[in-house]
Amino acid sequence: MSKQTRSTCPYCGVGCGVIISTEGAQITGVRGDPDHPANYGRLCTKGSTLALTASAAITEQTRLLQPMQRLNRKSEPKATASAVSWNHAMDFAASGFSKIIAEHGPDAVGFYISGQLLTEDYYVFNKLAKGLLGTNNVDTNSRLCMSSAVAGYKQTLGADAPPTCYDDVKHAECIFIVGSNTAYAHPVLFRRIEDAKAANPQLKIIFCDPRRTDTAEIADLYLPIQPGTDVSLFNGMLHIMLWEGWLDNAYIRNHTTGFEALKATVRDYTPELVAETCGIKKDDLMLAAKMFATSSATLSLYCQGLNQSSSGTAKNAALINLHLATAQIGKPGAGPFSLTGQPNAMGGREVGGLANLISGHRDMANPEHRAEVAALWGVDSVPDKPGKSAVEMFQAAADGEIKALWIACTNPVQSMPDQATVRRALERAELVVVQEAFATAATCDWADILLPATTWGEKTGTVTNSERRISRVRSAVAAPGQTRHDWAIVVDFAQRIEAKTGREKTLFPYSVIKPELGVETIWNEHRESTRGRDLDITGMSYAMLEASPQQWPLTEGQSTGKARLYEDAVFPTPDGKARFVNTVYKPVAEPRESRFPFSLTTGRLRDQWHGMTRTGTLGRLFGHVAEPSVQMNPQDMARRLLVEGALVHVTSKRGSIVVPVQASNEIAPSQAFIAMHWGEEYLSGLSAAGTPLAGVNALTTSAYCPSSKQPELKHATVKIIQA
Ligand code: SF4
Repeated sequence: MSKQTRSTCPYCGVGCGVIISTEGAQITGVRGDPDHPANYGRLCTKGSTLALTASAAITEQTRLLQPMQRLNRKSEPKATASAVSWNHAMDFAASGFSKIIAEHGPDAVGFYISGQLLTEDYYVFNKLAKGLLGTNNVDTNSRLCMSSAVAGYKQTLGADAPPTCYDDVKHAECIFIVGSNTAYAHPVLFRRIEDAKAANPQLKIIFCDPRRTDTAEIADLYLPIQPGTDVSLFNGMLHIMLWEGWLDNAYIRNHTTGFEALKATVRDYTPELVAETCGIKKDDLMLAAKMFATSSATLSLYCQGLNQSSSGTAKNAALINLHLATAQIGKPGAGPFSLTGQPNAMGGREVGGLANLISGHRDMANPEHRAEVAALWGVDSVPDKPGKSAVEMFQAAADGEIKALWIACTNPVQSMPDQATVRRALERAELVVVQEAFATAATCDWADILLPATTWGEKTGTVTNSERRISRVRSAVAAPGQTRHDWAIVVDFAQRIEAKTGREKTLFPYSVIKPELGVETIWNEHRESTRGRDLDITGMSYAMLEASPQQWPLTEGQSTGKARLYEDAVFPTPDGKARFVNTVYKPVAEPRESRFPFSLTTGRLRDQWHGMTRTGTLGRLFGHVAEPSVQMNPQDMARRLLVEGALVHVTSKRGSIVVPVQASNEIAPSQAFIAMHWGEEYLSGLSAAGTPLAGVNALTTSAYCPSSKQPELKHATVKIIQA
């Protein structure tokens, strides 16, 4: 008899509900949950093939199923690791971290975690570092994904809270998609946009992106801007709106501050200048401004094209400025809507899982916030020294300042920019612990200790999707081999550290013997930490989530969450008003030059996910794109006498890879594109110093936004030469 378990897709931030079918210990099928408000039964190719990725054969071939130790990693990188007991692995890790902290202080260790962890996992990692060990060195791959959106929301609206919901797609009269290949990266949401367009022919869609991706097919107006020029575009649109009298002056006067300074700045962003900077037609710029400002409801959907930028925060803020200036916010179908890349980047932010945050959307730099969290955890204090963000953490390890790294559920050896620095960091670190479900993740090769974790289909907890909706993730099958839940691994480690320090009462009183109870206890502690905060979920029990996923905030006593924020035009700032940010356009960190004449951009394929540890196990997911390539404009290929499929060296200032070239009219002249997913199995290369590297991040730059510290993964300059 087949068992059915409701859960959530582990891939993107759309957060689709799934129903998992199991026969005994085997997942036999996955279908969309017709009752889940994120997808109403729909799934994309990735979600609908989940069951195949969890077969017994694939589990056997790809999973890390027992703790391992690599005794001579420093002298022999990638040496074979040997199986050890959990007790030995955890004792080794706890002793190693304790010794390094005793000798060098708590900031000599760092935790690099993941937007694919569940909220409960994230919570205990954060508490371990900030509450027990005394370091804010906890950062996550969400830094590479959403930190510019976080900073943009906080600077303008006062809180890290997307004010919109998926339902707004059907209420919008204008949808502005910018820096997002929604058709590939958020396919089920894209289906909603298609439905809305079919139902309402009056709906106008503007698509803005350097690449003319499949998302452009639905657009009434396509703006092929030059990479990194978004702030110029948004300021130029505001200039036109001002000139044409399309602003909502009453809204600006009553509900915002800071407009006069911005008005003075955008005076210089004339249509002629902006059209030239962005490489678009002036008439198209004028039309975009008109469509945005004069529609009855404008919804902006945006993603990594804005976030992964050395101006990421300014791009987010400049777009939100447009919504505030036209009052396109706080009403059905209107508002800025950042699309979350990963399944639980939002949940991580909620528990404070970034180096500059603490629990409940609190700021590490705020003494009152630190005191509140210290009281909640029952510790004397939470450290006030700023933690290292992702790029800073690996740089600090490469410099010898961080000596122990704990990496969980993420694959920095493939996904971080400037791979040469990441490899130097891992070579130099005295102790590297990797907590991971897949033995095939490249980062496993760099671990002293490998801790096998459970993954989708086996885990229990919660995730938050792009529209602030929290859904349950449920285990459908038992943990395979010796794998353990991520939160339970952290609790075991923390209790060993506590034993070494002689603490009498554990900060981690969560039952690992009864994991269903343990994980719910963590959830309830997290809920309590949000009391009185913008994301207050004190009313959101597991029992309530059993019945239906819910959006935050949902305070104690309420029965449903809030679909849309700021409908009363009151913002979570000291004076209740939203703030215009005086945004100024700055070019990309690495402009094109004669030696490196191409702008390289990166992005997703339709059917692959991140480093392919899961999707790469299925042949059918290679049907859409079978192998890596660098896409170029046919004119650029002709000028360089390159023919389709020819091998080329793609070289930046940091490294070089060899890859076949593919002609594509999606790509503008002087630009190039390589998908982010291909690892060393597919795409080998060398650093500028001759170290073996792999994947597109051999080329990318770690230059980052000064506010959000999110690196500019979307742009590096390269040269392309026949191999
Ligand atoms: Fe999963 Fe995203 Fe596809 Fe939904 S759209 S099925 S969440 S990958």
